[in-house]
Amino acid sequence: MFSVAGLATSRGFVAGPAFIYRAESLPPLPEREVSPEETAAEIARFDAARETARRQVEALIAQLKTDGSGREIDVFTNHLELFNDVLLVDAVERAIRDGHVNAEVAVRKAIGEFRDVFGRMKDAYLRERARDLDDIERRILRVLMAQDEPALSGISSPVIIVADDLTPSETVMLPRSCVLGFATDRGSTTSHVALLARALGIPAVVGLGDITSRVQTGDIVLLDGTNGNVTVNPDRSTLEDFENLVRRSHELYSMMAEDQPRACGLKDGTPIRVQANVQPGVPLCCLATFGAQGIGLYRSEYLWLGGDREPTEDEQAAAYSDAARVVSALGDDARVTFRVLDLGGDKLMRGRQSREVNPFLGCRSIRWLLDNRNVFHTQLRAILRASAVGPSAVMYPMIATVEELRAANGELRLAMESLKAEGVPYDASIPHGCMIEVPAAALAADQLAREADFFSIGTNDLVQYALAADRGNERVAYLYQPSHPAIVRLVDMTVKAARAAGIPVAVCGESAADPVLGALWVGLGVTSLSMGAGGIPVLKQVLRSLSSADVGELADKIRALCDSETASGIYDACKNFLLQKVPRMSELQSLRASGRAT
Ligand code: PEP
Ligand code: MG
Repeated sequence: MFSVAGLATSRGFVAGPAFIYRAESLPPLPEREVSPEETAAEIARFDAARETARRQVEALIAQLKTDGSGREIDVFTNHLELFNDVLLVDAVERAIRDGHVNAEVAVRKAIGEFRDVFGRMKDAYLRERARDLDDIERRILRVLMAQDEPALSGISSPVIIVADDLTPSETVMLPRSCVLGFATDRGSTTSHVALLARALGIPAVVGLGDITSRVQTGDIVLLDGTNGNVTVNPDRSTLEDFENLVRRSHELYSMMAEDQPRACGLKDGTPIRVQANVQPGVPLCCLATFGAQGIGLYRSEYLWLGGDREPTEDEQAAAYSDAARVVSALGDDARVTFRVLDLGGDKLMRGRQSREVNPFLGCRSIRWLLDNRNVFHTQLRAILRASAVGPSAVMYPMIATVEELRAANGELRLAMESLKAEGVPYDASIPHGCMIEVPAAALAADQLAREADFFSIGTNDLVQYALAADRGNERVAYLYQPSHPAIVRLVDMTVKAARAAGIPVAVCGESAADPVLGALWVGLGVTSLSMGAGGIPVLKQVLRSLSSADVGELADKIRALCDSETASGIYDACKNFLLQKVPRMSELQSLRASGRAT
């Protein structure tokens, strides 16, 4: 038995036999000299293979349109363009003509050079694009050499795929019903396999180094996608413990997902809305699967992060309308809250690097939008167009001052006027709210509440900014404390200001998915929690076991502790309180991370 740590990219626990997939199943390339008289015929052979490969990708796209996700379709649409890329085609033809080599050798040489350039790029996203070129190369070579598709489609029983990394073509060829999980040598959180795993709710650990050389097909693998661990050939007691965990997680999940009505509330009927955080690329069917009562946070910036260019107004309106349509089908006053572009900090567009010395405190989010009003205007128009399709709301990120909120509201009015002038329908009473994720906003929440229809507290950034601890930096992770007395006070203050103004408050940061903190936020007066959809059943279960009096008592207890206790003291006090009140609380809490959707 041995264990390897990697990057946790898709949550969940799964045990099963390994299937080692080695990508390079092509035989050695044939090599021959091509005389000047043969050049034209060899180039024609390359062109024909390129065309066949291109048609294969077109067929794949057609198939994905019926059963795949939009994200994968985008990947292959990019491939279609690569097949016709003038530089690439020219490089191969030149290698045949000037290097006197056959098409197979020319393809390997020319595409290999392009791949090397991408592979050396600093930007992780662009580096990943080298895998697209791998895919194109292998596809053309397979046609030239009359080889079959790789063996992945032949998998017929459930396995954990252990591979170096997988190209987009390989990932879509997988028989999904047989894939229990992924463990790969390479890869990052933006690799294709990571995106696919998250979209399908399959646990995955990537960046495991040399796992393919240490595991054999048939070895038993315990995959912990929540903590980023892989254990191979476990001893009996490790296997039993893990299997218990998997079993309990499945039982609890199916029990909670199936038995619960969509509506959520406390034991005495006080309604609490439990919603999902989504982004373009996450299948919207997860809302119904996990019982979401709407989308509390639609991270629109992912439309920008995934592409080479800004999405047009029509493209945005189409994506937002999809979400509005799905939400309106949920009924129960469900709504989608579109957060406007939250670029900057660690969220940069493909290939862009921040030139700011301190981008997290720089021109990001609403600041950037107010500096790029045309982009803001277009996005607001697209959101408003979606509001005619289904119940929607607009939310501004990173608001620090009331002037920013006023300016954003002014832009919303302008966008409405422009649509009105064109006779385009929209919801004229669309709620507009702001995120509370900068400490200054929490401290001045009374001012902001007069000009907003709702607040949504982004604890991910609120903790980062209040404790001055970079949320992505492992070295200061110990300071990342959502139960710090300062955070509890900031949330408390925000809710009090909102209540005085008569507007509702949600929490949409990761802490909402932790039942211990979720219950505390509700006790402090938050009426909606929004999280990765997989966390919803656990939260509903916990809330349903508590009365308004219970959560009120919890909040009073914790407020009193804020004078003297540390973050861990507060957390433990909360947890101990809930252990008394909520049946199976410890089990629920330990399993919360096994939610399938992130
Ligand atoms: C937050 O900051 O809590 C939040 C929900 O926004 P994001 O994680 O997208 O920054
Ligand atoms: Mg944030």
